Amino acid sequence: MADYLRRSWAVVDLDRLSHNVRTLQAHLAPGCRMMGVVKADAYGHGDVYVARQLARLGVQWLGVSNIEEALSLRAHGIQLPILVLGMTPPEQAELLCGHDLTQTVHSLEYALLLEASAARSGVELDVHIKVDTGMSRLGFVAHGGAARDSVEQVSQACALPHLRAGGIFTHFAVADELGEASAAFTRGQFRAFMGALEALEARGLRFGLRHCCNSAGTINYPEMHLDMVRSGIALYGLDPSPDCAGRLALRPVMELYSTVTQVKLIQEGDTVSYGRCFTARRSTKIAAVAIGYADGYGRELSGKARVLVRGRFANVTGRVCMDQLLLDVTHIPGVEAGDVVTIVGRDGENSLSFDDMARLSGTINYEKVCLIGKRVPRVYRQGGGDVGVVDYVYQGL
Ligand SMILES: *Cc1c(COP(=O)(O)O)cnc(C)c1O
Repeated sequence: MADYLRRSWAVVDLDRLSHNVRTLQAHLAPGCRMMGVVKADAYGHGDVYVARQLARLGVQWLGVSNIEEALSLRAHGIQLPILVLGMTPPEQAELLCGHDLTQTVHSLEYALLLEASAARSGVELDVHIKVDTGMSRLGFVAHGGAARDSVEQVSQACALPHLRAGGIFTHFAVADELGEASAAFTRGQFRAFMGALEALEARGLRFGLRHCCNSAGTINYPEMHLDMVRSGIALYGLDPSPDCAGRLALRPVMELYSTVTQVKLIQEGDTVSYGRCFTARRSTKIAAVAIGYADGYGRELSGKARVLVRGRFANVTGRVCMDQLLLDVTHIPGVEAGDVVTIVGRDGENSLSFDDMARLSGTINYEKVCLIGKRVPRVYRQGGGDVGVVDYVYQGL
């Protein structure tokens, strides 16, 4: 196994990933398939290792945001069916087809451009139709007054000779919120989706793969699983929202560690880091740690967050820098250069989560894991040992 720089690193536990996949699979309606959503480098976890593990676990499909992510997975030998959830420039129809990719079709206009490109290249393209039932993002608008038009337009798209529509899907806006208004909205989205399917079926159009549930939908609405669910965040052991916390026994897959690089005593009146936002009131022991905002440890955490050193919490003191941050470790005996710092994970009795970090940053766990920087090596753990490393910066160590 390749070595890696023990500066800051993320441990990605493949056994926990397996546990989460099996937990979700056990929760699915019988016969329902699972698409593992591995966009954005598998939410920062490293898409190739994650996709390989998902394939071993019997996950049937992968979802990505764009054609480059799909091509990278193909280049690494991943053979599962892949749905490109976002828009691909129509000129790339041949490339999509050549790599056995399924493209989302979100409008008749786009379908016509894709058709023309596929016809020019002499290929037939697999597509899934995306309908918008209330998210107001991509899709044929299939709710409210536009519902009837959209059925006509989807029919026209499906009749195009170089497109093969094997699936149809929609996306929920508030499946993660359990309040009555949100639940009513989700049920309304589902009704609009089922209504569109019925109207299409009346025109002789049936789809093998009907899917609408993201992780939150999968967890909260088993009656909406249909033929497939699209699970992202739950694979990685993170709750889609606080409302979903603990509903399935998921285990966080990623931990994040860094290293103390220097410890020093500063005196009363000395200030710490850029902007001099922290002034020592007494003799204070400061530890420099090799992680900063370029690694995904957001600058907004300056003066707010805490991490673990030698099993104890230490406050992030002064501004977070690009490559480093500073801790007040006055109360922790024995801290020295080389100590491991737990940013997310467990150290003895205490632990920290991406949810903790997200709350302090005013965002969600999704964004925190996606933003772990590319200079943080991903170290894959399985069966208690390290089984591989992805280093995006330098592969030579
Ligand atoms: C990202 C995404 C998902 C996965 O969502 P999670 O909340 O992470 O499960 C599913 N479907 C679509 C269309 C997406 O863009």
